[in-house]
Amino acid sequence: MNELVIPQIILDDMIAHARELAPHECCGLLAGNNGVVSRMYRITNIVAMEGAQNLSSFDPAKVAHLERLSPAERAEIAFVMDMQDFSTAKKDMRNHGLDLQVVYHSHPHDPARPSITDIKIATDYEEIWPKINLPIPSYLLISLMHTTPDIKNYWIKSGQVSNASFIVR
Ligand SMILES: [Zn+2]
Repeated sequence: MNELVIPQIILDDMIAHARELAPHECCGLLAGNNGVVSRMYRITNIVAMEGAQNLSSFDPAKVAHLERLSPAERAEIAFVMDMQDFSTAKKDMRNHGLDLQVVYHSHPHDPARPSITDIKIATDYEEIWPKINLPIPSYLLISLMHTTPDIKNYWIKSGQVSNASFIVR
């Protein structure tokens, strides 16, 4: 498998997306051709939306509660892609002859490693991608737990996680 090429401008845009949505997780898709990413699609994270409504006027106590959750509890929150956004992105990819390459999401407080929930969801999706005529994507994680964002890409197949390398250009 060829190494995925991600343009710096798209990498920066993903990091900006992650920072905008923190403390919630952001999610989105990368698409392109021949292993080179040329398009990024921000997808609404339904979990973040519902969370944001609950955090009306950003009640500091509630935000503090979110920060206090254990990594396991936070991992349960995860992300759920908005299907309307997803099908709009899928249509755009088809219109431009682009292949889906990556599903990305952020971990505002946790390392750039798939959580148990992430692995479970990716494994459930493995049989869905071919049914909707999309290739199985790799999963890119953006961790904001340190000042410098940590970004890693993975294949998740049959519940097994392996590194999927990428280069930034
Ligand atoms: Zn995750």
